[in-house]
Amino acid sequence: MNRNGKTWVSALAAVSALLVLSGCGTSTVEGTPATDAAPTTSDLVPLISPDQTLEPAPALNVNGVPVVVEMESPVNQVVVKAAEDVTEFWANKLPTEFNLPKGYAALPASSSKTECYAKLDFARFCQGEMIWEVPQMEAVQAKGGDGSVLVVVGHEIGHRVQSSTGISKGGERNADCLSGVYLASVRDGKSSRFKGNDERIRFAANNAFKTIQYGDETIVRERMAAFADGLRLGSVEQCSALHP
Ligand SMILES: [Zn+2]
Repeated sequence: MNRNGKTWVSALAAVSALLVLSGCGTSTVEGTPATDAAPTTSDLVPLISPDQTLEPAPALNVNGVPVVVEMESPVNQVVVKAAEDVTEFWANKLPTEFNLPKGYAALPASSSKTECYAKLDFARFCQGEMIWEVPQMEAVQAKGGDGSVLVVVGHEIGHRVQSSTGISKGGERNADCLSGVYLASVRDGKSSRFKGNDERIRFAANNAFKTIQYGDETIVRERMAAFADGLRLGSVEQCSALHP
């Protein structure tokens, strides 16, 4: 072996080693090589700053009664606030015990879950649970603002007043009138959550009924008249006398 021959053998050995390494399916790890250096302060920036919290936002509820949310929307917050205010009003107002709603559900549409759920059109009660169609509530809100949502919730919970007192067997105009009775208290400054004068309340109600009745002017007029009786007279007894 001469000097050149020895070099040649070394080169061959090196090539063989490369072939072995690349021939057994090793995956490539990219990036900078690890070092033994201690991490610097800038490597330790926390992903969550100390003033942030990992607690989830509290679930939507009406005075502790949970809302089943099958469709998220800001309008659900308005419905909840309205339900809190209307139920508080009736719990204080009625001489008899007020049957509070047993549950709440925000739905994308009517569903085949139960026979009652299948009949959902805007909002209704199903076995003590108040359910509503979120897109329809959004439509009401778009037309007449939060006040219109309040009128609708006032009507629905009016049905709960009917079942608590027996003053009406689910009459629709009666429930409109009871919504007016509740809104009279808002007009008179007795609500801690909502306020509005007569004009604004009538505007909200008119737009709520227009949206719900798809603009049928005759029915809108009848519903407005029943609501206005409640707003003017502020009396459950008058509502049952005028709109049984
Ligand atoms: Zn009704």
